[in-house]
Amino acid sequence: MTIAYRGRGNIYLNITSRCPSDCSFCIAGFTDMVFGADLRLEREPSLDEILAELENAFLDGPADQVVFAGLGEPTMRLDEVLAVTEWLTLRRLASRLNTNGLGELINPGRDVAAELAAAGLGAASISLVAHNSEVYNQLCRPIYSKAYRAVLKFAGRCIEEGIGTELTVVDLPEVDKEACRSIAGKLGAAFRVRPLVTPASGEPVE
Ligand code: SF4
Repeated sequence: MTIAYRGRGNIYLNITSRCPSDCSFCIAGFTDMVFGADLRLEREPSLDEILAELENAFLDGPADQVVFAGLGEPTMRLDEVLAVTEWLTLRRLASRLNTNGLGELINPGRDVAAELAAAGLGAASISLVAHNSEVYNQLCRPIYSKAYRAVLKFAGRCIEEGIGTELTVVDLPEVDKEACRSIAGKLGAAFRVRPLVTPASGEPVE
């Protein structure tokens, strides 16, 4: 099974397939393949397995960043994300978390942004998805009732903790991109519109 894979100059880590949302645009709904790698996991890799695969991936050369991504939500495995981030920080290697921003609902009672910052996380790319909770809930179908509010709060906390933070949306007609850009701007986050990946549109992107 593929735990570490390369694309766009980065090394990506695939550590879970679990997620508390069921987004209508999720590529996991139609493919297991990303950057030519099959990301189907028979089981979740242990921390030792993740670090061994990471070391192997670096044998092929340096990377701009190591990115927690895959076809699930990395903060479902927060302890492993923190341990790998610490491992990277010790080696002065850049790290980024691609997340749905629900880490504090997934891990109640923990200050996820503070723990990530303490581990040395350099960047967080947080999926804002929509300009309001109604559209968010319609597109993401999260198991939590206050998910959208949690995303905004998490983004604010990441910024407070000094983590380079961007909010992203997928280019969908239901989404008011300019309103989302404004939300990101008010929070002090960067903003990016990601293309919609469909079965017909070719290579999935981060
Ligand atoms: S949050 Fe990400 S992994 Fe989870 S369903 Fe949505 S797109 Fe897929």
